[in-house]
Amino acid sequence: MCSQEASQTAIPVLLGVPFDANSSYLRGAADAPPLIREAFHCDSSNSSTESGIELDSESVLDAGDLQLPANGEFQVIESEVGAWLDKRQAPVCLGGDHSIAYPIMRAFGKRFLDLTLVQFDAHPDLYEEFEGNRYSHACPFARIMEEGLAKRLIQVGIRTMNAHQRKQADRFGVEVVEMRELPALARLKVAGPVYISFDVDVLDPAFAPGISHREPGGMSVREAIAHLHAIAGKVIGADIVEYNPKQDVSQMTAMVCAKILKEILAKMIA
Ligand code: MN
Ligand code: MN
Repeated sequence: MCSQEASQTAIPVLLGVPFDANSSYLRGAADAPPLIREAFHCDSSNSSTESGIELDSESVLDAGDLQLPANGEFQVIESEVGAWLDKRQAPVCLGGDHSIAYPIMRAFGKRFLDLTLVQFDAHPDLYEEFEGNRYSHACPFARIMEEGLAKRLIQVGIRTMNAHQRKQADRFGVEVVEMRELPALARLKVAGPVYISFDVDVLDPAFAPGISHREPGGMSVREAIAHLHAIAGKVIGADIVEYNPKQDVSQMTAMVCAKILKEILAKMIA
């Protein structure tokens, strides 16, 4: 396995990951990828981003949704993401529940040394295990840090920290930026390649009700975009996870996902 240089040009490629079997409370996130894609292409908006980058079918590829087997889903996710990276393209995965961040990061972390992982989330997702499942969507960042798949993990928007996860965060040296500390733009000025894992529940449910775990007191869409824009370092990949269409109202959360997606893509292309 050769390590990749963050300076290499890589075209973002959208990859749907219709998987929600590791959700602990509600299913439904598996239905998200086509709806995020539909909102992304919706004529109600245009393909410009706030920084002036224009997105089109040449600057952003679309690989459709992964076909996942009934068993061994994580192996398929890891190998498919890895295959795109080996083609010098930059996968942007549309989840799915947050458990998919672990196989995705297995693909990225083995290829990019010095990777900084920036996680937007209401939850730390650092449980050693959750209800007997080590691969629950409540656990992926424990698995990622155990395997050393990221050099740094910065969590932004956290507002459900408990004693166990505080201990885990200390154990792994996680840099936790709690919601109550925001704005924290300076904390995102990091060097080196950056991967963004964006759990939609970092947003206040007033802005994004289409999620499985509504945790009040979250970011406005504006605050999320400001913190995305503040990230220094080259963004080499991303995921947007935990959108649950079954909980959505008039597809408003799909549009929010599409907006966040556009701004992340602009960061990757810039
Ligand atoms: Mn999460
Ligand atoms: Mn969450």
